Amino acid sequence: MAANLALTPDQINRATATVIKNNPAYADILEFYGRLFVAQKESENRLWIESLQIPEDLRAVKAREKFPLIEIKDFAYDKTESADLFVAIGRLAQEANPQLAAAAAVILDAIDTNLDPADLFDGLLNGNEALFENVAATLAIEKQVLGFITYNSLKPSLGTCAAQLGAYLDPDDPWLEGYCPICGSAPILSFLEGEGARSLICSFCWHQWPVKRVYCPFCDNSDSKTLHYLHSDTEKDRRVDLCDQCHKYIKTLDTRQVDRRIYPPLEQIATLHLDIKAREEGFEAGVKLFLEE
Ligand SMILES: [Zn+2]
Ligand SMILES: [Zn+2]
Repeated sequence: MAANLALTPDQINRATATVIKNNPAYADILEFYGRLFVAQKESENRLWIESLQIPEDLRAVKAREKFPLIEIKDFAYDKTESADLFVAIGRLAQEANPQLAAAAAVILDAIDTNLDPADLFDGLLNGNEALFENVAATLAIEKQVLGFITYNSLKPSLGTCAAQLGAYLDPDDPWLEGYCPICGSAPILSFLEGEGARSLICSFCWHQWPVKRVYCPFCDNSDSKTLHYLHSDTEKDRRVDLCDQCHKYIKTLDTRQVDRRIYPPLEQIATLHLDIKAREEGFEAGVKLFLEE
């Protein structure tokens, strides 16, 4: 089954239950993420964003020069929805592991008093790491938790922007680069579909785009002698693509081997053991994951 971001909250719940059944070790973490993904989908269904317009002549230049359509700072977001979702995620996090719960409680208190989530949203989109460091230091919490809640509150808006902007991309002129055609970010997952066609999915806006089958998105390597895979005997649908040239890896899901619904954010979490395995082999993630240093 092809990867699909357009699932209903019910379908996300069912997909989560199926993945938990197949990977019981992930039950705790996926129960949290399942609720998070449903809250995001419900928010996405309510939000409203004015479409970003890109004039045709600028689009032509970007397509020719292989520049992404926008920069991260250009993403629009629904302020009210994102702020509501911030509080909703904070509450979900309070039911999660004790460390996350304690930090979420402090953040929600700050929101009630003097912390405006809109400052965090603007800070994240403008790459203002100092803001996250300062707020985290003031609240005596990990900045990763603050970044995690902030990004996940924006994510429905980012996906909506990406879907709107996707209409500008020419399907007859495939992008084929290792970075997102919408926002320029690195990919977080790769998928094999249909006749073996490969696509990447953006770690920031979750747009999906086609690439060459034998290809490292992080250094443009397409030499099959220096590209190989880590396979697991028990998981025929999953592998890790490793590049000997840049020593980075990306996780790949072979959707032809899967008959469940594939919701990419769920698959990203349910494959964290592959991240560990790839790192044990001396490879680095091509993209930084949240909740890491
Ligand atoms: Zn993107
Ligand atoms: Zn590489």
